[in-house]
Amino acid sequence: MFSVNLENISFSYPRHNSAGENIFFSLNDISFSLNSGTFLSILGPNGSGKSTLLRIIARILFPEKGTVKIFGTDYIKISRKALSRLIAFVPQVHSLVFPYTVFEVVLMGRAPHIQGLGFESSNDRIIAEDAMEKVDVFRLRSKPISELSGGELQRVFLARALAQQCPILVLDEPNTHLDLKHQIEILTLIKKIVNEKAISVVSVFHDLNLASIYSDEILLLEDGMVRAHGTPSEVLNETNVNMVFGTEVIVDPHPVTNSPRITIMPGTNFIQKTETQKQNGEIYEHI
Ligand code: ADP
Ligand code: MG
Repeated sequence: MFSVNLENISFSYPRHNSAGENIFFSLNDISFSLNSGTFLSILGPNGSGKSTLLRIIARILFPEKGTVKIFGTDYIKISRKALSRLIAFVPQVHSLVFPYTVFEVVLMGRAPHIQGLGFESSNDRIIAEDAMEKVDVFRLRSKPISELSGGELQRVFLARALAQQCPILVLDEPNTHLDLKHQIEILTLIKKIVNEKAISVVSVFHDLNLASIYSDEILLLEDGMVRAHGTPSEVLNETNVNMVFGTEVIVDPHPVTNSPRITIMPGTNFIQKTETQKQNGEIYEHI
């Protein structure tokens, strides 16, 4: 049985532009299925509908057409609390401004598991502490989240999602603010959980190379439509990247993982200094 199954999903935001015209963004006829133990990345240019698609999967937004099934059940039939035991969602922008401490925020991940109006148990506290240790925020546990850096905050919300212990993890650009070391640590951690606990991950990324290395599958969105879906090698070729992102790249195998490695090209106005120019200390010429 698929953990996540989207059948012919369509959705649109009604919108007026500054001229008062009604313009729409829509997701059109999106279908895909995800197995347990699979890491799916969603890639696409700004405004292609990646966050909208994640919000539909997490049932923040309802599709106009089509069905979303979670472990075979139409998610309309699943209660909000039961769904929050199945899907943990980390959105792109965090709107929590109240100065909760890191520990309090991570502990909130346990709420779906607490009966009625009860309080968290010592087991909930252990799970929250373990999640904080995994994403390297344990030493920040007593700090108010209003005093964290962007990258630290991102890791705290990931810890909250891990503490939720759901079989499906939905992440919107989880590593945008992270330094290189934390990006690799977090992605390695997510990959490990996917493999060891057989959870499903659906995550949006901007960095094509990171997605290529860590994902089992990639879904390429363009203008609210699926342009390609398959393994990184099937999806991340020069033609697809050029067509969807409108930019030239060179794709060759990563020397260690053999996954597609995407190399960006300098723009057409880029002038490279020759060795002699560099030796003479000449500066770059700007066009
Ligand atoms: P992505 O995450 O791929 O950058 P989004 O899914 O956030 O793209 O947005 C897709 C399009 O929908 C964009 O053109 C955006 O401006 C528009 N959009 C996003 N949220 C809303 C909203 N709440 N109301 C109207 N339009 C929206
Ligand atoms: Mg987005």
